[in-house]
Amino acid sequence: MGDAAHVHSPAGGQGMNTGIVDAVVLGRMLAEVVTGNRPDAWLDRYGELRRPAAAEVIALASRLTAMATTRGAARQTLRNAMLSLVGALPPARHRVEMSLSGLARRDATRLAA
Ligand SMILES: Cc1cc2nc3c(=O)[nH]c(=O)nc-3n(C[C@H](O)[C@H](O)[C@H](O)COP(=O)(O)OP(=O)(O)OC[C@H]3O[C@@H](n4cnc5c(N)ncnc54)[C@H](O)[C@@H]3O)c2cc1C
Repeated sequence: MGDAAHVHSPAGGQGMNTGIVDAVVLGRMLAEVVTGNRPDAWLDRYGELRRPAAAEVIALASRLTAMATTRGAARQTLRNAMLSLVGALPPARHRVEMSLSGLARRDATRLAA
């Protein structure tokens, strides 16, 4: 879990948050097993629950890094216009907020219990 499972650029500030959710999910799953509520095989679900979040965060960080390092005046102008548009459109802004805050990926903690 954490960076050992999904290291990526710090763009978007998601690494620590994602690692903390990894730990919460694994902690809950381990608690279910050690208290005898679930069989050992329950732990196999960990990858199922966390791999999509890791893939999403890595893809998001890659997109943000590509955007931040865009070269050329025309591309930079286009990028800035697109970011202004996203900021001005509430549904688009909400989607970005949910993704950057990690709230879009909160289901995994609920499913682990
Ligand atoms: C510039 C920058 C800004 C960032 N900003 C944010 C942010 O705003 N928000 C956010 O959520 N995340 C951010 N991150 C990411 C965040 O710092 C990492 O995702 C997080 O620290 C990963 O925690 P971790 O415990 O998985 O790994 P690490 O913090 O790398 O911890 C691993 C630990 O294991 C130790 N270790 C390694 N090998 C061994 C060994 N063989 N034996 C014993 N110990 C060992 C290491 O010394 C280290 O202390 C940022 C990262 C950078 C670089």
